[in-house]
Amino acid sequence: MTHSEPMVRAEGLTRLYGDFVAVDGIDLSIGRGEIFGVLGPNGAGKTTTLRMLVGLLRPSTGSIVVDGVDMVARPQDARARIAFLPDTPYLYDKLTAREFVHFVAGLYSVPPEQVDRRSDELLTLFGLGDRADDLVEGFSHGMRQKVVMVAALIHAPKVIFLDEPTVGLDPRSARLLRDILRQLADRGTTVVLSTHILEIAERMCDRMVIIDKGRVVAMGTVAELHEQAHETSSLEDIFLSLTGGPADAAIASVLS
Ligand code: ATP
Repeated sequence: MTHSEPMVRAEGLTRLYGDFVAVDGIDLSIGRGEIFGVLGPNGAGKTTTLRMLVGLLRPSTGSIVVDGVDMVARPQDARARIAFLPDTPYLYDKLTAREFVHFVAGLYSVPPEQVDRRSDELLTLFGLGDRADDLVEGFSHGMRQKVVMVAALIHAPKVIFLDEPTVGLDPRSARLLRDILRQLADRGTTVVLSTHILEIAERMCDRMVIIDKGRVVAMGTVAELHEQAHETSSLEDIFLSLTGGPADAAIASVLS
């Protein structure tokens, strides 16, 4: 892959559930070291899009290339380059944080000599250094999120996908997550996150796509989105003007 090629490229991404078109011809191009947000109201198709991008769901039509590797043709190679944090991550309660991280490292065939050092570094970075040998069954939601995040990073992925990552995190943990994602991006990791909380996208993301009813309605930096909407209003106003509807407006104002 040359430097100018995107890290993630999707073309004509479409997914049907029966006759219902959940994602309808989405094109995306996400660069190395970019923090990219996927925004949209409830049911817009964010999770479906993310699950296709990470290879958990097969597109009905369209292509996905991650780091030069075709996700549909070579899913194993493509998946080795990414990490995915679902909105409700699964953890084994009867393992300690460290054991869980080591377990995931084994799934990714991380060389054993790297696992100890890297898991110690990451557990400390996330403030779990002194809880590393406690069973995760006693952990809060936010702590569990952090353990999953450490595990997701153990194989040094080139792209990390996060579905609604700040749900359940207190402001301090949300801030920590933001700082860590920025550090990862600065070191060249691409970050793709979905959210319906506009403030998060505005603060965290370099660029974002707004989707509604499975289609792209806007894409760009916050500044570019302002331009596209031809107004100097808040991102919330832009979001609402593009995705429309009083019901969406009510939801977004409650959530933002
Ligand atoms: P939210 O913010 O509410 O999580 P979302 O943007 O992530 O929403 P998706 O979960 O991708 O939206 O769903 C997009 C649409 O596809 C919705 O109308 C949903 O009902 C539909 N859908 C999702 N999964 C399935 C499925 N397994 N079978 C049928 N329809 C589905």
